Amino acid sequence: MLGWFYRGLTSRRVTTRYPIVPESMPEGFRARPVVHPERLDPEASWEPYARACLPGAIQVTEEELTLDLGRCICCGLCAQVPGGAFTMEPDFELAVRNCQDLVTVVRRG
Ligand code: SF4
Repeated sequence: MLGWFYRGLTSRRVTTRYPIVPESMPEGFRARPVVHPERLDPEASWEPYARACLPGAIQVTEEELTLDLGRCICCGLCAQVPGGAFTMEPDFELAVRNCQDLVTVVRRG
């Protein structure tokens, strides 16, 4: 305990300079899924993506696919569905003022 106290008194800074200096994540770090609409086959079923998503962050209807990052647990299972329409990206900055800004909708056609 005293060691930490001494370190706090003698160190000028023990935290990083984020957000002034961007943080780099380790290789393979998965922060969130990103959907790539150009990789979604408009003629195929998009249901496998919804079935892979256990918390229901991916919803599929006949007309559209919805990704709600507010429900996502960043498990990465959607990125393992054949077709590659989802990838896991290291961008961890998800703060928004409106939760609707966490929703991505892809429409067929
Ligand atoms: S990372 Fe997991 S929880 Fe998030 S959208 Fe993909 S399957 Fe769903």
